Amino acid sequence: MNGQKPKTISIVISVYNEEKALHEFYREATPVFEALPWNYELIFVNDGSADASGQILAELAAADPRVRVINFSRNFGHEAAMLAGLDHSIGEGIVCMDADLQHPPECVAQIIEKFEEGYEVINMVRTKNKSAGFIKNLTSSAFYKFLNKISDVKLENNASDFFALTANAAQVLKTNYREKVRFLRGYVQNIGFNRTTIEYEARARVAGESKYSIRKLFKFSINTILCFSDLPLKLGIYSGIIVGFLGLLVMLETIYEWAVKGTPNGYATIVVLLCFMFAMLFVIVGIIGEYIAILFTELKDRPIYIVHDTKGFPEKES
Ligand code: UDP
Ligand code: MG
Repeated sequence: MNGQKPKTISIVISVYNEEKALHEFYREATPVFEALPWNYELIFVNDGSADASGQILAELAAADPRVRVINFSRNFGHEAAMLAGLDHSIGEGIVCMDADLQHPPECVAQIIEKFEEGYEVINMVRTKNKSAGFIKNLTSSAFYKFLNKISDVKLENNASDFFALTANAAQVLKTNYREKVRFLRGYVQNIGFNRTTIEYEARARVAGESKYSIRKLFKFSINTILCFSDLPLKLGIYSGIIVGFLGLLVMLETIYEWAVKGTPNGYATIVVLLCFMFAMLFVIVGIIGEYIAILFTELKDRPIYIVHDTKGFPEKES
């Protein structure tokens, strides 16, 4: 390591079944990081990979003193992996990135420049996402628009899991944002501090495939909405008002029928209204249930991740 370099940047890389990408990542990123004006540490968080990723990382850690590995006891998800990386970092600056080279390592030089200009939170915004395809890009941008509409916080469109923080800003995430159901990239944008963005062009995934299935993305989106907005809870009030109004119309109609024809035809109306109102009621109860599920998860206070062992850390070897 170069003793002349004044500061250290911690680069956190989440790894889940990335055996095909890891060597490529290390080979391509190392010369880029070596040229940085700061020292660096690479913190690979192995999020319970079932393939050879753990072994590859152990080899890298044995051969390179700048490589650190955190092995989880099982898969805890990308966000938990990023948080573990933040927890274990020692640098004055921290960058979170993917292992698949979709986040270009060259950007770290720009990040350090921004740190030196005094910025504390740097969001990397992708200009184009070649690998994601048209549909994923479109749905992702529609999702951000929707989220911005319904929540009081504002999220950068196209923000990715590629971001950088100073140790100070990271401290806030580490201590005050340890929710079990969370949306880290949203929190990064909402802790304040001196913020800026850097644009980057997402590359195609170097190997392997995306770990986010449609099902995972859907669950992730629902959780995000529930984390950032209480609008769904207010749906009960709105739909109550609408149904009440409809009920009033039906009542007027019934009175009219009774006045004109003498006998109101109530049966059909009752069935339709019952179905409609019960459907509404169940949806609202379901939404409240989702919030209770989140409360329950928070209340249980289970760990966000469990570390099996670590490698390459100077003092806390386990
Ligand atoms: N990842 C993880 N745990 C998971 C899923 C993904 O640590 O449960 C890692 C994965 O190895 C990758 C990063 O998170 O480095 C982003 O995942 P991926 O590239 O599959 O997502 P995409 O870039 O397609 O959104
Ligand atoms: Mg990726």
